Amino acid sequence: MNPNEFIYLDYAATTPVEPAVAAAMAGALGIDGNFGNPSSNHPLGRKSLQVVEHAREQLAALIGASARDIVWTSGATESDNMAIIGAARFRSSKGMHLISMPVEHKAVTDTFSALAAQGYEVTWLSPKSDGLLDLGQFELALREDTQLASIMYVNNETGAMQDIEAIGSICRKHNVLLHVDAAQAVGKTSIDVHKMPIDLLSLTAHKFYGPKGIGALYVADRPDCKIEPLLFGGGHERGMRPGTLPVHQICGIGLAAEIAQQRMTEDWLHISALRRRLWSGIRELPGLHINGPAEGGFPGILNVSAEGVDGESLMLALQPVCVASGSACNARSGESSYVLRALGRDDHLAQSAIRFGIGRHSSEQDIDIAIERYCTAITTLRKFAPPAAVQESSA
Ligand SMILES: *Cc1c(COP(=O)(O)O)cnc(C)c1O
Repeated sequence: MNPNEFIYLDYAATTPVEPAVAAAMAGALGIDGNFGNPSSNHPLGRKSLQVVEHAREQLAALIGASARDIVWTSGATESDNMAIIGAARFRSSKGMHLISMPVEHKAVTDTFSALAAQGYEVTWLSPKSDGLLDLGQFELALREDTQLASIMYVNNETGAMQDIEAIGSICRKHNVLLHVDAAQAVGKTSIDVHKMPIDLLSLTAHKFYGPKGIGALYVADRPDCKIEPLLFGGGHERGMRPGTLPVHQICGIGLAAEIAQQRMTEDWLHISALRRRLWSGIRELPGLHINGPAEGGFPGILNVSAEGVDGESLMLALQPVCVASGSACNARSGESSYVLRALGRDDHLAQSAIRFGIGRHSSEQDIDIAIERYCTAITTLRKFAPPAAVQESSA
């Protein structure tokens, strides 16, 4: 990447594909490659099927699953929909009560809202101010007719990491299924679905240096953990998700998973050091607030609000540094982040939030440029900010 053009610090939105992954994908496309339909019963089809099944092993190894419990999807959005709607339909005889949090990704919150409109009852548990679920409150919210809880692993805006071990144990005790949106966690932190009490887990390749448009849903192999399919047409993926498998995408996610597993510790240490560098470079500015945990969260995300600045102007002033604003996924709606407001941030502070997303290819130089830009932008914008917008408090 030409540093004069962009400084990419938006790894929580998406990541570039590893060169080896792109090369492997190209090998599954053309006349000389594995372009056959994995469902075809001829030598080329069987070769493609081998590629698909090898990738399934690679991905399963990354999360401690058996290959047969992995269902290919188009990404985490589809996996979230499939898990929540599919399990809710399968288990509707147990009851119609569901539990989640307002800080989940829209792929989860909108799915629950759609189910609520169809007669399901959804309990939304607000997080504590650091973004974490209150475990006592969670256990109290579970009822006889609760069939599913959906709690994300790493929050995509704040980096808050939930205690999935503890949450899952509570769910098991009460015979409630646990779905985990792990899109930001897979490939970054070690996950073992056989050791951890997780029933359904969503992931997507483009958050761990694989291609966009491919993901998976892990479905625990137990009679009480089944999902009704959302799509019909051919019985692929053990009847859960039909459609011709995209061999090039699948070999891409498989190799990206293998590389992520090899590099996990190295990446984590590299990213942690850069986050510390970034935070120590800006923390002396007055009126900053970290959104999410200051320590102990996923180090690839640093989300900071600044008193007395307008978010849109800040984004403009930060160019060419590519970061996400307090509107993140809602960038086009003009609304401030619903996630930050759920943490108790007022509209103004939520608007001024910047999410720095640090990744595998981030360098000290990237961070230093970001620090310089951010400090200059905050100081300059505050000179022009109406005094009313500057708050007295600081925390
Ligand atoms: C990126 C992301 C998604 C959506 O994944 P897609 O592959 O883009 O559908 C869902 N949940 C979380 C937490 C994410 O970070």
